[in-house]
Amino acid sequence: MSDSASTSGDLDGTDAERAARRDRAVRAAVGQGLLGPDAPIVGLLDVTGIRESAAALRAAFEAVTAPGTPVLHAFAVKASPLVPVLRLLHEEGIGAEVASPGELALARAAGVPAERTVLDSPAKTPGELREALALGIAVNADNPQELERIDGLMAERASGSPLGIRVNPQVGGGSIEALSTATATSKFGVALRDEGAREWVVRAYLDRPWLTRLHAHTGSQGIPLTLMAEGAAATYTLAEEINERAGRRQVDTLDIGGGLPVNFASDETTPTYAEYARVLRGAVPGLFDGRYGLVTEFGRSLLAKHGTVVARVEYAKSAGGRPVAVTHAGVQVATRTVYAPGAWPLRIAAYDGKGVPKAGPDVVQDVAGPACFAGDLLAAGRALPLLEQGDHAAALDTGAYYFAHHYAYNSLARPGVYGFVAEGSEGVAFATVREAQTVEEIVAEAGGERVTALTDAMRRAGAGDS
Ligand SMILES: *Cc1c(COP(=O)(O)O)cnc(C)c1O
Repeated sequence: MSDSASTSGDLDGTDAERAARRDRAVRAAVGQGLLGPDAPIVGLLDVTGIRESAAALRAAFEAVTAPGTPVLHAFAVKASPLVPVLRLLHEEGIGAEVASPGELALARAAGVPAERTVLDSPAKTPGELREALALGIAVNADNPQELERIDGLMAERASGSPLGIRVNPQVGGGSIEALSTATATSKFGVALRDEGAREWVVRAYLDRPWLTRLHAHTGSQGIPLTLMAEGAAATYTLAEEINERAGRRQVDTLDIGGGLPVNFASDETTPTYAEYARVLRGAVPGLFDGRYGLVTEFGRSLLAKHGTVVARVEYAKSAGGRPVAVTHAGVQVATRTVYAPGAWPLRIAAYDGKGVPKAGPDVVQDVAGPACFAGDLLAAGRALPLLEQGDHAAALDTGAYYFAHHYAYNSLARPGVYGFVAEGSEGVAFATVREAQTVEEIVAEAGGERVTALTDAMRRAGAGDS
């Protein structure tokens, strides 16, 4: 777990270079004052690494699809809802999968065009659907009631939006219950193995010539590749059945979702997109023969390994014989890890006061966050070089679903997020992706301009009552 573990060993070149870039960025963040006593926590994003992952995704599918097959890789915006990140991915040929009005607005702000955007969510309002259809954004209907709403909108005004239905192939869950989307009772999509459901789906297509896509998202952290491939296979088989019964190629595009798991245990990228694409091709060759366009929706696997939270060690103490480093990174940036440490362990790297990797010996210690509850620990009983006051603790692989997903416990401020690239042989250039939240902003967002809303205003209303 110490830094030497992250930069040595038998990593391949890309992974080793990424680990080396991270060390360099941490040192530069301290050296350039992004991180210091008054800015005790930052999120760092490796721009080079993000570009490499996007390129690896594109190449993996190019290697297995027939030439000319349209493939849209739509980044699941929920994994990193930051406009400059969406813009970077857009520049790398990656679109956006959105699941709320906020996410759609972020994708549009980043300049992602409608035809490269897909809307999936289990709770779309009529207004959201209307907007998506007006913009020409692809929509996957989650359930029969939503399809009825779309029927109504299509009757009002034809739309150029590619439309489909989300199905749940019910192939089973993975090791993390809360993230398993394809269980028998998952809340997502039309449960395909329920009685009558398959026939309902087929009829829905036969009755609506404008339904041309079919969607399933069965993967996630903790799901094996073979199970993901089973989900894709079930979707493909259903599309074949619909097309057979329609007597034409009505379903022309399959959206196979995202959910490639990420290795949080080391710097090794595993599984890779190339492996997944090969597994898919082995399991469902018809998916790649050019008869279907493809949409993918990867989130975590595109970003996780390119983000690092770095926090100062404010105090180093000892309790019950165990050293405890009290840092500025806890539940506000690593919510899942703090509340479900068994499912979401994070690697912690120790850096000294200058941001240089600390050398061993490893000492078993707790790495705590700043929030006022006992369980606010980034890591418990972790062996790493002893963290001392003024050192830095880095939570690795936190580029998706971590520091971009602030949790406002204790009114802790959202940390600044900075992208970095290497500059010259030694330097690092940073760009601000998101400013750190100020205490003035915290007050304003907490109703600071409505100080008397519950006192004076309510008194006036009460007086009017009598
Ligand atoms: C969350 C989600 C994704 C992305 O999942 P990752 O595990 O981050 O790759 C893709 N599609 C849908 C519909 C989702 O809800």
